[in-house]
Amino acid sequence: MPKIYLLDVTNRDGVQTAKLGLSKLEKTMTNIYLNEIGVFQSEFGFPTTKHESRYLKANLELAEMGVLKPIRLEGWIRAIVDDVELTFERVPGIKHLNLSISTSDQMIEGKFQGRKTKQDIINDMTSAVDAAWARGVESIGVNAEDASRTDLDYLVEFGLAAKEHKATRLRYCDTLGYDNPFTIYKSNKALAERVGLPIEQHCHGDLGMAVANSLAGAKGTIDGGQDAYINTTINGIGERAGNADLVTVILAVTKSKDFAERYQFGNKIKLSKAWKIAKFAEYAFGVPIPINQPGVGANAFAHESGIHADGVLKDPENYELYGFKELGRGDPIKVDTGREITAGEYSGISGFSHVMGKIKDLAFASKEEANEVLELVRYANVLAHKPLVEDELLFIARYPQIAKKLLTLTPLVKP
Ligand SMILES: [Zn+2]
Repeated sequence: MPKIYLLDVTNRDGVQTAKLGLSKLEKTMTNIYLNEIGVFQSEFGFPTTKHESRYLKANLELAEMGVLKPIRLEGWIRAIVDDVELTFERVPGIKHLNLSISTSDQMIEGKFQGRKTKQDIINDMTSAVDAAWARGVESIGVNAEDASRTDLDYLVEFGLAAKEHKATRLRYCDTLGYDNPFTIYKSNKALAERVGLPIEQHCHGDLGMAVANSLAGAKGTIDGGQDAYINTTINGIGERAGNADLVTVILAVTKSKDFAERYQFGNKIKLSKAWKIAKFAEYAFGVPIPINQPGVGANAFAHESGIHADGVLKDPENYELYGFKELGRGDPIKVDTGREITAGEYSGISGFSHVMGKIKDLAFASKEEANEVLELVRYANVLAHKPLVEDELLFIARYPQIAKKLLTLTPLVKP
C-alpha cells in the first residue's frame, strides 16, 4: 500500500510570503524542528539566491554531521537549465531539487506572453531535469505550477515527459487554492494512474480548503497506486491565505473519520513536537497563532459553557477528539515578572553569562569560548531583531562554526 509523506515548504513558500521572513538562524532552527517532528523533506530555500548560499551550505554540513538527519534538504528553483547551473555554482553539494514551471494556459499566456509554447515548457523542464541529473543530484521533483487550472491531458503529457527523464516525483500545485476535495481527488488519482509517479499535493487556502484538499489529493494518489507527498507549512504561513498547516495535516491524516485505516504516513511522525514547532514559528515570524487554530490554538482545549465543561470533566472524550498531551502541550510556561536580563546585539559578558547560566546542559570550557559565543549571539540579534530562544542560544553554543556561516552576509564579495 502506498504511503503519505510530509514535505514542508515553510523555508520557501513561508518565507516568500509578503511582509514576512525568517533569519538564516531561524530557518536553520525550522529545519531542526521539522526533522524532529518527522517531516520527510524540507524545501529549505532558494539555491540561486545569493544571500541563501551560506545558509544552504551550512545546513548541508549539518546534514553531514548527522544533526539534520534523516530529513532531506531540497532546494527550489525554476525548471530552466540556467537555474540548475547557477545552483551548482552557488551550492555545489545540494542533493535534492524541485524544479518549477507554469503549466496552465492562463500562466503560459499571461506570464510568457507568447514567448513560450506548451512544447517549450516541456522542453525547458526536461532539459533542466537532465542538467540536474548530470550534476549528480539524488532526487528531482518536478513542479507543475497552476496545475489545478491546467488541462489534464497536457498535465499527463508533462508528467510523462518528466518521468521519461527520470524525475522522482510530480508536484501538483494548486497555486491559487482553486481546487476542492472532489476535483483534486479526481485529478490526483488520474495523474497517479496515467503518469505512474508519486504525486505531491501543494495546496493553498484561498477558499479555506488547503488541508481538506491535501487529504483528498493524497487519497486520490494512493488510490491511483502511488505515494503521496503533502506539502505543508508551519502554522499554514504561506502566500496570500497560506498553505496547508503542518500540524492540522498530521491531525487530519491520523484522527479524521476512517481515514487512517487505509491512508497512513510512511515514516514515524512525532505529534508530540507540534506545540514546540508551532510556538517557535509564531515567535520567529511574529504572527500570532489564531486562538481557534486546530491543536495548537489557545482555545483548542478550552471549555467554558456549562454542558461542555461538565461533559469534558466527566470524560475528556465527550468533547475532545484528541488530547492536548499528544501535541506536547500542558507544561506550564515560566515567565519572569520581575527583573529580566536578555541577550541582545549590545550585550556584555556579565548579562550574557546570566542568561546562559539559566540553561541547563550548557557549560563553557573557557572565558574565550563564552566570549566567542556572545559575539555570535550579538550578530544573531542584529539579524533577528528580537531575543533568541533557548534552543537558538544552545545551537550557537554547540555549533559556533556553523553559526558563523549562518550569520555571514557579505553582498560585496563572491559567495
Ligand atoms: Zn505555494
